Amino acid sequence: MEEKTILIAGSITVDELANALGLSVTQLIGELFKNGIVATINQRLDYETAQIIIDELGLKNVKLERKNTATRTSDLHRELSDKAITRPPVVAVMGHVDHGKTTLLDTLLHKKTVDDEAGGITQHISAYQLKHDDRLITFLDTPGHEAFAAIRQHGAMLTDIVIIVVAADDGVKPQTVEAINFAKTANAKIIVAINKIDREGADIDRTKADLSNHGLQPEEWGGDITMVPISAKQNQNLEQLIDMVLLTADIEELKADVDIPAEGLVIESHMETGKGSVVNLLVTGGELKTGDFIVAGKSYGKIRTMLDWQGKPKGKATPSTPVTVTGFKELPNFGDRFAEVSDEKTARKMALLNAEAIADESASANVTSTDLLRMMNAADNSKVMNVIVKGDVLGSVTSVVDSLKMIDTHGEITLNIVSTGVGDISENDVYMAAGGNTIIYGFNVSVPINISKMAARDGVPIRTYKVIYELLDDAKHEMENLLDAEIIETDTGEMKVLGVFRTEKTSIIAGGEVLKGDVKSGYLAKIVRNKEQIGEAEVTSTQKEKMDVKELVAGETGGLAMRTTSKIDLQIGDRLKFFTRETKKRTL
Ligand code: GDP
Repeated sequence: MEEKTILIAGSITVDELANALGLSVTQLIGELFKNGIVATINQRLDYETAQIIIDELGLKNVKLERKNTATRTSDLHRELSDKAITRPPVVAVMGHVDHGKTTLLDTLLHKKTVDDEAGGITQHISAYQLKHDDRLITFLDTPGHEAFAAIRQHGAMLTDIVIIVVAADDGVKPQTVEAINFAKTANAKIIVAINKIDREGADIDRTKADLSNHGLQPEEWGGDITMVPISAKQNQNLEQLIDMVLLTADIEELKADVDIPAEGLVIESHMETGKGSVVNLLVTGGELKTGDFIVAGKSYGKIRTMLDWQGKPKGKATPSTPVTVTGFKELPNFGDRFAEVSDEKTARKMALLNAEAIADESASANVTSTDLLRMMNAADNSKVMNVIVKGDVLGSVTSVVDSLKMIDTHGEITLNIVSTGVGDISENDVYMAAGGNTIIYGFNVSVPINISKMAARDGVPIRTYKVIYELLDDAKHEMENLLDAEIIETDTGEMKVLGVFRTEKTSIIAGGEVLKGDVKSGYLAKIVRNKEQIGEAEVTSTQKEKMDVKELVAGETGGLAMRTTSKIDLQIGDRLKFFTRETKKRTL
């Protein structure tokens, strides 16, 4: 057989893979369907998924190869030249919800945002800068709820230092642990802020002990983690905390080259009427200026305007500086690396190359091998929940999708992301959802009146939320509705058959002795012979001495009428094991 090699750069569409394999799209979609994946012709499959499909099809002559991708976010840490200069530390504040992250940032920056957040949760990654002793510190304000794990994970990758906020009256909580893990994964330095020490019930030592149990040993106990007790609300010890941040930065000798083309990461992006794409960037090297040509993933443009984090025009941004720019022709993805190039032609060319090379970073419409394996492993009767996810910015779409995938359904429900996108719910979304039993989730987006009418007409559910965990609760509830109800059987009693008076097609009349428990009309009975169940019946009446009675109890002898679905030859000596059966809605 002729050997064939297929190059995959990140991902491949169903259409492309079918072509490369010489199959029809229908055949390939059929193969995916057999594995529980409802795919469309334009859906992107990742490398591993394509490999699994090829294995499933038994195509031993086909070899998959990864095509090298050009500019990925992963190779951020470039070698520094000896001309590299000191740059401000990039600090992320993480911790459990309500432990005081926002308050800490607010007090540090003297601004007021706590009350503005929907549901009291910081929804997007934003960046701030603080000047202390004439030195700058860049803060990434990472969202607080666990649902934003995705954003935080990206946030952590940019981060030199993570301040983990732990409330002294609450101790280590799940998201504290998550923050610790993120910081470790991102190889960031950790400083702990033990917050709310002004509160009654605050216990600094207990909190430290709690932290040591989670692998963070305080310096004063011989460990290597700086822990500063603070009150974010009462501005207590914040100076000390900031000093520790700067000290850590000094020890780490954070540097960057400035005489190289500007580069960095996209930390937020959204569309704005009149402005087009509005993109937050964090410069990690070089100097970014208005008028520069930049490429980020498959998007490129010329920087039209550049503002600092406070919205003031900025002509030049040096490493560790967060800026908001306009001028990208289309929305780059959150987490994309950006790079300055010499001219528009190069920019366009690189963007095209990247478009080929880079799998859609929003990844959600893609089928990954994890999805595939999950679906393959799921029992045949597993249920599928189809969703379309729309959000105001790519970061939130990614987070919603990632969080939806994190809902643990014990392998019983398969989540099928039909499509994702940025912007209001559209006619196309409703078209896609119609007839497919699909729910459209919108996060921080609206539903134009005509679209909601259309959806109502087509019976397409649209749910919009401003708070992510409310959205997740809804999705979880929907998944629970898909679960088979739990069947609860409770044994009630047992009878030994002493006489069989009539066995007909769907009824039995018999008599016997109740050995234990009781029996009454409505109970079900397993008919057992030689320890084996030979049938099931439902008790329709009980009699004692030819009189109807409400029940027969242990020790009594009496008669039963039972209903069956097919004829059962009940015999003397059979046992009837009575039980009740209830169904209960299950939860996840
Ligand atoms: P986040 O979810 O971690 O961002 O927490 P917030 O900053 O929104 O704080 C949650 C609540 O704790 C708010 O009501 C704050 O006013 C309160 N809080 C935060 N820091 C302190 C503190 O140091 N002392 C006291 N007493 N309350 C605080």
